[in-house]
Amino acid sequence: MQILIKGGRVVDPGNYNGMADILVEDGKIVKIREGKGTKAKGIRQKAEVRTIDATGKIVTPGLIDMHVHLREPGHEYKETIETGCLAAAAGGFTAICCMPNTNPVNDNSQVTKFILQRAMIADTVRVYPVAAISKGLEGTGLCEYGDLKDAGAVAISDDGRPVTDSQLMRRAMEYAKGFDLPVISHCEDLNLLAGGVVNEGAFATRMGLPGIPNACESVMVMRDIALSELTESPVHIAHVSTMESVRAIRAAKKRGVPVTAETAPHYFTLTEDDVGQYDTNAKMNPPLRSKKDREAVREGLADGTIDVIVTDHAPHSSIEKEVEFDKAENGIIGLETSVSLSLKLVEDGVLKINELVEKMSTNPAQILKLENGLRAGNPADITIIDPDRLYTINAENFYSLSRNTPFNGKEVKGKAILTMVGGKIVFEDKIR
Ligand SMILES: [Zn+2]
Repeated sequence: MQILIKGGRVVDPGNYNGMADILVEDGKIVKIREGKGTKAKGIRQKAEVRTIDATGKIVTPGLIDMHVHLREPGHEYKETIETGCLAAAAGGFTAICCMPNTNPVNDNSQVTKFILQRAMIADTVRVYPVAAISKGLEGTGLCEYGDLKDAGAVAISDDGRPVTDSQLMRRAMEYAKGFDLPVISHCEDLNLLAGGVVNEGAFATRMGLPGIPNACESVMVMRDIALSELTESPVHIAHVSTMESVRAIRAAKKRGVPVTAETAPHYFTLTEDDVGQYDTNAKMNPPLRSKKDREAVREGLADGTIDVIVTDHAPHSSIEKEVEFDKAENGIIGLETSVSLSLKLVEDGVLKINELVEKMSTNPAQILKLENGLRAGNPADITIIDPDRLYTINAENFYSLSRNTPFNGKEVKGKAILTMVGGKIVFEDKIR
């Protein structure tokens, strides 16, 4: 069967930005007919063709979230690979990368293969495992990167924990470079963390909670930039939250260090004030920061210092969240809210729509060396966004097994309404 996506504005950074129709057949894009108000001229339709009217919609290459925590194996009550993939599809993502802090840890090819097998059964979005840097995430011995890559890992990271030993991080970068695997760094100095649970400053004092200074993140960002310079190995900085990190990455890029960076919607949308009255759904690591930091993150996105928007989707059950603030687990879910929250950057004039698509599709694909783009011959991984849809976020409707979001009840504008992976529609909004 053929699918014709008709009348939409196609935004494929570096390739095309304008009105076009896209014809999909046998899982691939077969033709793109450019031009305003096209009537699919030049596209010879077969009898069995489904037409999707994309008038007024934005059609993008499939969105990629390169920082997701699926909780399988080990914590399936929070999220399974199946439910995480459904949540991703509903959020407009055609591909996600899952972090290795499962139980068992994804530090060997068996676990990598298991994840891919479960993803194949789920049969919704593409899943690219990120394997561990160190065995058991313990920061002492390196994993077998060659085996992990052969099994399907696309990057390595000890995310959730920093690699404290600088010598081990140096060796990891050198070793990973040989296998062309990017290193994703969770930057945190555990000594500076010192039991902190919110951003350090007046807010923390007022709340009587121990604070986390910006330097807890930025000293490790600076170290990893130094190690990337030393080893000439690419490093990708995870979940940037502070002004100092943005400055350090900006300066490093200027002198040619192969560093890339990501941030998440909560860091450009919220501040520490949104912790409000000890809301554990606003507790994450790194923590929500000050207004100044939020501004710096937005500037970093605007000038290209921050390459990628991720969700850092971190499902937790109510057991872990409905407890005292300092005892609650870190992290929030994000797959089903990211597109709506990120579109606000376009409305606010921080990013142009093609720059947003760059950060949610083109750039992650480039960093991870994944096929991407709306070109004839490519797999039909396509997201359709309605930029004008107004709605209220309702966590009860999420496909994710978890509900830990600070955005429940928030009114937003814009939504992913159709997600296609390899020509198969894996999500379609009922309201059109
Ligand atoms: Zn992390």
